[in-house]
Amino acid sequence: MALKHISVKKLLTEATPGSEVTAKGWVRTRRGNKNVAFIHLNDGSTINNIQVVADLSNFDEEAIKAVTTGACIGVVGTLVASQGQGQSVEIQAKTIEVIGEADAETYPLQKKGHSMEFLREIAHLRPRTNTFGAVFRIRHNLAFAIHKFFNDKGFFYWHSPIITGSDAEGAGQMFRVSVLDDKNPPLNEDKTVNYEEDFFGKKASLTVSGQLEGELGAMGLGLIYTFGPTFRAENSNTARHLAEFWMIEPEMAFYELEDNMDLAEEMLQYLVKYALENCADDIKFLNDLYDKELLSRLDFVVNNQFQRLTYTEAVEILKSSGKKFEFKVDWGTDLQSEHERYLVEQHFKKPVILTNYPKDIKAFYMKADEDGKTVRAMDVLFPGIGEIIGGSQREEDHDKLLARIREMGIDEHELWWYLDIRKFGTCPHAGFGLGFERLVTFVTGMSNIRDVVPFPRFPKSAEF
Ligand code: ATP
Ligand code: MN
Repeated sequence: MALKHISVKKLLTEATPGSEVTAKGWVRTRRGNKNVAFIHLNDGSTINNIQVVADLSNFDEEAIKAVTTGACIGVVGTLVASQGQGQSVEIQAKTIEVIGEADAETYPLQKKGHSMEFLREIAHLRPRTNTFGAVFRIRHNLAFAIHKFFNDKGFFYWHSPIITGSDAEGAGQMFRVSVLDDKNPPLNEDKTVNYEEDFFGKKASLTVSGQLEGELGAMGLGLIYTFGPTFRAENSNTARHLAEFWMIEPEMAFYELEDNMDLAEEMLQYLVKYALENCADDIKFLNDLYDKELLSRLDFVVNNQFQRLTYTEAVEILKSSGKKFEFKVDWGTDLQSEHERYLVEQHFKKPVILTNYPKDIKAFYMKADEDGKTVRAMDVLFPGIGEIIGGSQREEDHDKLLARIREMGIDEHELWWYLDIRKFGTCPHAGFGLGFERLVTFVTGMSNIRDVVPFPRFPKSAEF
């Protein structure tokens, strides 16, 4: 009877030498000579491979031929202390079963060193590589840590809808959700599409943010966070934007801007620290292969307080920096990534929280400052990334919020429910949105956000 197989991670760290074991996984490399084969086997449980040693006199030559790079095999053998370097134990194979062959002529991952662009084209196979194994294990650990962080602090996981009937979230271009016949949709008298006949009886879209519904949760549960997919149809072909990405959006009753900043800083430090402690092998691998400063950058975030300053102060610094930026900086304009990165990477040399932005470049729901010019916004800026978090204290005063909605030309009827909670037991509250893939990009040191999600969605790309 076959022994139950043990993960490579457990074999390398927990199993006792001398015991009979079964391992299953994918062949990374096979070396050797006509007497002995050394097979490096990986099953995704860890970046490390287990070495399988096969004394070829015990094996049928034809059978062992199919043990090629990429093939899936099952090995039964004895775990022994390793003679070679680089591993403490290895398996002395008794039987090797080829579970799934991988033709050496056509398997695309035959060699190492493929470009990231090429690997994106074979996204169905890239989880087999060391790099993507490491990235996706780190992604998992960060997701887990997010739930742990909030749960331990008494926050409730709140599910904002993914399909929304609200057209006024304002965070970006939306993808329509419709079941109307695209060749022959029902029309209004003025020839526009009549969405009253659509599935939801109104225009519906994929959400760009779970915040507005998150606020409704916080007004009853106190502390909530969302963690779900969001969609933006903006044509941003950058290394920091996806059309489908995951966002973490905590929303807290009785929090003001300072509390919001404290929570964002504590959370980011917790998450990076969690990854350093729980993904040490994977981070070290990425550090050594791609980005020799990754580890020091991560340590730096954990060990330094974030620099807090107002937008107005930041504009002064940028203007007097003497640096030539592609986009000019002027009070009232939105900061570009180059400005954000200058502040973080060159001026302060640490993460930065910018606050109190001009109201005209921020969303309608942010609480106005006393001067009437700025709002209680905060963006957290990270090295290599720029904006990783955007948040604010929310306007809790019904009349002020309504006035701002009208001033910005937003349809107040679309937001009746959002206004309604300001009528019944309103209170100060605040929250923010952390882009999950921007966090994973930061922790893995990957240079493109398309490489930290299994199947990236961006303009002209939805193959897998
Ligand atoms: P940016 O200015 O970088 O485009 P934003 O101001 O549109 O971002 P927010 O609406 O404040 O972003 O969203 C909150 C967070 O979600 C951002 O801080 C960022 O981490 C993340 N985010 C926003 N847009 C995207 C995107 N297209 N792909 C991945 N993450 C995103
Ligand atoms: Mn923002």
